Amino acid sequence: MKLKRYRVDSGKKVSLKEFDTRDTGPYEDKEEAAEDLRKDVDRLAELQDVLYARNTHSLLLVFQAMDAAGKDSVIKHVMSGINPQGCQVFSFKAPSAEELDHDFMWRCMKSLPERGRIGIFNRSYYEEVLVVRVHPEYLTAQSLPPEAVKGDLWAKRYEDINNIEKYLVRNGTVVLKFFLHVSKKEQKERFLERIEAPEKNWKFSLTDVKERAHWDEYMKAYEEMLEHTGTSWAPWHVIPADRKWFTRALVARIIIETLEDLDLRYPDLPEKQKAELAAARDVLLHEDSGQPTTGTKGTA
Ligand code: ATP
Ligand code: MG
Repeated sequence: MKLKRYRVDSGKKVSLKEFDTRDTGPYEDKEEAAEDLRKDVDRLAELQDVLYARNTHSLLLVFQAMDAAGKDSVIKHVMSGINPQGCQVFSFKAPSAEELDHDFMWRCMKSLPERGRIGIFNRSYYEEVLVVRVHPEYLTAQSLPPEAVKGDLWAKRYEDINNIEKYLVRNGTVVLKFFLHVSKKEQKERFLERIEAPEKNWKFSLTDVKERAHWDEYMKAYEEMLEHTGTSWAPWHVIPADRKWFTRALVARIIIETLEDLDLRYPDLPEKQKAELAAARDVLLHEDSGQPTTGTKGTA
């Protein structure tokens, strides 16, 4: 699959209209994509095991999207094979009073993945240049000092975000960002489904419909965000999201190729630890014989 065409990392102007939300890449149908996804889910589990064992890097996956684009379902499917101990998901909603009392990065920074882990941000600090940009009145609750709001606040936020991401990357966190690009028409279909299917009613929120009315402003905010924060060290990917089965297959592939590029291997133990392993094996193999072994020499 040609992954580069979904990647934004150059600082060039982005026009979301040029990205086809119905694209299904090389796949003719759902089954083909599901077959690849099954293989990739297994492969991801292997790569995650090495990441955990190596303990030098972590992987941060950031998901942003309009409502009903399928963030939850991508996270559920792509991560379905992973050892739960090696993976953490954080969902960022409207900030609490405590969170508003800190800088905007705070709540996300304290949720970053530890070395060896995959951390997933279901929404993130990017809301600060998206929902807050569309609703600048939210800034009032942030009690920012006057100098912070002087000039181009959004340009300053892009710069801060880029710098922080560079710092994270330099210190071993691989940062991958996904914008799930759903069409306005498909969002409407999914909202209607949430209203009509009783088992989906709980997913429906009136606020989502209110936000939909700001669609064009959101698209503009997303385009600017992609242009200014799609960097070589922390690229964005614009993922077609009208076909959920393609969304999942594509996200899985991008994560796998990124992890494979790291070329991590299981740690090779130093000679001293290898000798300790050999001694431990000796102890285990002889524990029922009552015979002293080389491994217990001096301690038996
Ligand atoms: P779902 O797919 O279930 O709808 P969701 O991620 O949309 O999941 P919700 O609880 O519906 O979760 O919505 C979270 C809301 O919180 C979003 O509308 C989002 O824009 C808002 N939000 C997140 N971060 C901020 C922020 N920093 N300031 C203001 N609002 C925020
Ligand atoms: Mg929502």
